[in-house]
Amino acid sequence: MKGIKGAIHQDYFQPEVEPFRKYIDEGGVPDFATIKPAVAVPGCPANGNGMLRTIALMALVALGVLPASVLDRKSFLDEYARPLFIFQNTVHEQCPRAAWYAAGVYREYPGQPNAACLYSVGCKGPWSHCPWNKVGWVAGVGGPTRTGGVCIGCTQPGFTDHFEPFYEPMNFTPVGRSAAADVALGVGIGGIVAGAIAAAATALSKKKEGEGEKKEQK
Ligand code: SF4
Repeated sequence: MKGIKGAIHQDYFQPEVEPFRKYIDEGGVPDFATIKPAVAVPGCPANGNGMLRTIALMALVALGVLPASVLDRKSFLDEYARPLFIFQNTVHEQCPRAAWYAAGVYREYPGQPNAACLYSVGCKGPWSHCPWNKVGWVAGVGGPTRTGGVCIGCTQPGFTDHFEPFYEPMNFTPVGRSAAADVALGVGIGGIVAGAIAAAATALSKKKEGEGEKKEQK
């Protein structure tokens, strides 16, 4: 666990985390007599609201206010030990730009001042799980795609390497997403996005040409 982003079910677990591994791999509810009930609340950085809500939930169970069944492995955590009540849905499923995605309207270049979908400029929202673009990063304000920046996949296994370059569309199936979902996504938007990316490249090239001409005229 130590310092290895998003990595679980690995051989390099330390002996002292065996009760945790047992809980993660074999299910059931954590035994508070033997386990430090660690779960993953990933992010870059991890969201304070998400951490606080998770710790509060576990504290309420430890104090006996809530039943231990609340922390049942299968209903509480996903396959990467993330609390499902926070990380169940993808960024994409909760995105305020979803209407533009559905309409096939994409940004032509990063930073373009419009509300269009950011998939064409590298958004990793379809592969990433977190709610912050819906509920806001702090007190209802901010969040990845809400503010015009792409989702960079920071809650997913393999971040950062598997999600770079951040401002280019994904061209492979990353860890943490089912092949079936990718097929559905690819069938649905592959053609549209390919067109959008080509249009974006053309627009960017024209923009650069225009800037070059302006400089020459000066
Ligand atoms: S901006 Fe990203 S998360 Fe939002 S609809 Fe487009 S691809 Fe999905």
